[in-house]
Amino acid sequence: MRILIVDDDVITRRVLEITLRKHGYNPLMAINGQQAWEFLQQDFVPLILTDWIMPSMDGIELIQRIRAANFPSYSYIIILTALNTQRDIVHGLEAGADDFLIKPFHEGELLARLNIARRILELEQSLRETRDQLYHQATHDSLTGLLNRMAIIDRATMELERSRRAHQPFSLALIDIDHFKRVNDTFGHLVGNEALVVVAQIVKGLVRSYDSVGRWGGEELLLVLPDTDSATATQIAERVRRALSQHIFNLPSGVRLRLTVSVGISCTDIYHNSYLLLDTLFQHADEALYIAKRSGRDQVALFQSTTYTTEVPLKQPTISAG
Ligand code: GH3
Ligand code: MG
Ligand code: MG
Repeated sequence: MRILIVDDDVITRRVLEITLRKHGYNPLMAINGQQAWEFLQQDFVPLILTDWIMPSMDGIELIQRIRAANFPSYSYIIILTALNTQRDIVHGLEAGADDFLIKPFHEGELLARLNIARRILELEQSLRETRDQLYHQATHDSLTGLLNRMAIIDRATMELERSRRAHQPFSLALIDIDHFKRVNDTFGHLVGNEALVVVAQIVKGLVRSYDSVGRWGGEELLLVLPDTDSATATQIAERVRRALSQHIFNLPSGVRLRLTVSVGISCTDIYHNSYLLLDTLFQHADEALYIAKRSGRDQVALFQSTTYTTEVPLKQPTISAG
């Protein structure tokens, strides 16, 4: 395990280095708080053993900076100092140290304290991993690995807000697999699931890095397209539609099939209302999707209305691309 040793005294550093290396640690050296601080910016080390009194930056300031910073994980910090009054110990711990050892150190005690540090750091890491897994589970669809409905709505809310502030257009594209029920009816639900996974992968591979793809529900995916006008959204949707219609699905179960999708797009650039609600965009993407379906499927439809404001009634959506 890596450990950062911070001490201005060369002999102390050398003794600690030899001791810790002997016990399987991988010690890294800094000659004062400043150097340690700079080192940590480049290469974070969660276990730190620091002296208190040092030129440039002392141990207390180093600890305070680490506690105020936003490092990827917790740092377990032990102060190792010749300062030894109870006031010093309280001061060091209150500054944010996890433990306090007095020089000259006793080897067995140092190792025992480092074992505590390792246990705490391991516990912290496993809690962090569990939290990350739970977060992932709560925001992703377990079948396709895409963002789930709640998460894609969150993403859309955030991106619409950002687009509005930046005066950029914003688009949604609702993708629905055509006649998907037939896939289930013909090959069974499991094969349907396999097909959904592949559709999700293909769609994900076709959008730009800043676009988001979510599972809107059942066999429907939603694309959130920031800084995208209706012409570009139509191009992206058309690219997805074409790629899927040309793909031969060779599924793990051995089934080979072809699929098509229909896509409904809504974009903020057609409205005169800058405080458009996300719900309106969802609804209009859905209406455009319905038009695409009714017009024969395997096509992209854009919700269009040049006169729409909150007061004026909606015009019927029309198809822009086939
Ligand atoms: P359309 O072209 O009008 O969209 O026809 P469709 O059959 O795709 O649409 P419909 O809404 O009638 O049926 C959707 C089908 O999608 C029915 C449902 O069982 C299937 N489906 C939804 N979610 C899943 C899923 O997670 N796995 C599988 N295998 N099928 C699903
Ligand atoms: Mg559907
Ligand atoms: Mg469908």
